Amino acid sequence: MISKQKQHHAKGWCPSTLTPMMSGDGLLVRIKPAFNRLTSKQVAILASLSDSFGNGIIDITNRANLQIRGVTHTHLSSLIDALFDSSLTKNNEAYDKLNLTLAPFTSVDSLGWRCACALYDEIGNFPNLPAKFGFAVDCGSTRTLCDASADIRLETNKDGQLIIRLDGSENGFITDENTFLDDIKAVLNWYLLSQKYAPIKMRMKQFINQEAIPETWCTTQPQASMKNIVPGTYGEKQVIAAPFGQLTSDQLAHIASVTDEVIMCLDRCLLIDKTADIDSQFITSEEDIRRNISVCAGMPACTGASINTRKLATKIISRLDGAHNQSYHISGCAKGCATKTSRDICIIGNDGNYGLLENGCAWDSPDNILLSEAALFDELDRIQKN
Ligand code: SF4
Repeated sequence: MISKQKQHHAKGWCPSTLTPMMSGDGLLVRIKPAFNRLTSKQVAILASLSDSFGNGIIDITNRANLQIRGVTHTHLSSLIDALFDSSLTKNNEAYDKLNLTLAPFTSVDSLGWRCACALYDEIGNFPNLPAKFGFAVDCGSTRTLCDASADIRLETNKDGQLIIRLDGSENGFITDENTFLDDIKAVLNWYLLSQKYAPIKMRMKQFINQEAIPETWCTTQPQASMKNIVPGTYGEKQVIAAPFGQLTSDQLAHIASVTDEVIMCLDRCLLIDKTADIDSQFITSEEDIRRNISVCAGMPACTGASINTRKLATKIISRLDGAHNQSYHISGCAKGCATKTSRDICIIGNDGNYGLLENGCAWDSPDNILLSEAALFDELDRIQKN
């Protein structure tokens, strides 16, 4: 029996269901839906569990997972039992740790689906991997997971042959359904043995910058066609996003009531039925101004924050006109959890005040420091007029 009481406090840890992480508003329990899919019944159960055992706030993560926030130590065991009962997770440590992203339009029984099945079945026989290590299964003729955080990618080449590509390498190597698990194990052994004495293992992309990949693993290109899944309609489906990547339990319950299935996508998006009746509290179009604003949990959710990032984002949105296309990053502290890429305008909380910089990341030195809220808005007005 796995201990349900393991919890990690360090930020940067990769939480899971069986290993939750302590945050400013309590424990954060991550749920990784199998095949990135949830039935409407499971979605309704998650909404109800968030009310019963958490604080009614659910994060959608960049890696297409969900997180129930605000769980107390007293409620943790009951929550995990309820997740087991509704098949939202398994009482299996290897399965719980597995980071597997499946392309959202993968049909059941297709090549990608079968590969994902095989990975779920075999993961207990893989060596112990770093917490953030992940697999992307993206076997369609158009790749949709190129931006997914993954170390090993299963794709196809222009001839439709299954290939394994190490993240950071342009090319991969041909494998097949019978041998790909053994081929992946060979890659993992090479990756882990080469870093045997390293206290912290590098992600694959960083690793292959330092260690040359065997030439036989770089012999074929993946499908050239690529696209990102963004809010909008796709045949019989539609993609929506939650502003700032969070849903309330009421919003989640509403989604459960209007769609048969939810497929979790990258970039905090959800693929649902086209007929689902969705209102303006959700983002339904890529043009929605809220898509340009990355916001971390902030106060009171995160103990590292000294500002309420979401309140500030809402105020900023109310002052922007519809044609505004600058990108924003509002970060509760210099760690910059919401995005690792540079944004046109970056606002960073510092001791209850605001730092501000243009074209940078949260950890860069701000051009303006310790601004009051009024001074911050004066500066934003000045930038917008220029
Ligand atoms: S960036 Fe935001 S979520 Fe991350 S540690 Fe800082 S305040 Fe917390």
